Amino acid sequence: SFSERVYLENDSWKGERVISEETAFIMRKMLREVVVNGTGKKAALQNKELCGKTGTTENYRDILFAGLTEDYVSSVWIGYDNGINSQALKDASSPEIWKNVFGNYADSVESDASFPECENVKISAYCAETGKQSAKRCPWGGKGYYKADQPDTCKKSHPVPVLKASASPAPVTSTVSESALPVTSAVPEATVPVTSPAAETTVPAAEPAP
Ligand SMILES: [Zn+2]
Repeated sequence: SFSERVYLENDSWKGERVISEETAFIMRKMLREVVVNGTGKKAALQNKELCGKTGTTENYRDILFAGLTEDYVSSVWIGYDNGINSQALKDASSPEIWKNVFGNYADSVESDASFPECENVKISAYCAETGKQSAKRCPWGGKGYYKADQPDTCKKSHPVPVLKASASPAPVTSTVSESALPVTSAVPEATVPVTSPAAETTVPAAEPAP
């Protein structure tokens, strides 16, 4: 059972927004990943959408976990007052300790609270090469979050294998690739040697390619 004793209370506290709604939303999504796929997995709760962050200092002098649910923010610090390093801290799991100290309680709380959605944030794929919002030919990187009014879209021109053939001169010895080229081929005439016998095999403009 939980003690009713209050150690510190501050009823006069007034909140003041210091980061934008969009930044807060994106940050929460990233902190959610810590619990779902990252270092905070052991803190995961059954009923609540937990977001969190683990922390360590050099040589495991301190270990920490901060957890956020729809209802509470709480954190645990584990270490020694005299700052010694300990194998015990290296082996300990701050997410697990947080869950035992506070998480199970937070999980049991019934409330109507929910994390706010944010319509100014767009969720879309990002480019694996540049990390920016994917354009048409970008390689798939994963799911990204973008402020709707600042769409930082990838401008890199990724190579397109299919179009590459018509952009470079076709080999003069290959009649197959030459006949496959469209009549208005981009291959400059100057690149075909005038004396080359292969030039004679060029398909006449009137004849459709096989
Ligand atoms: Zn790209």
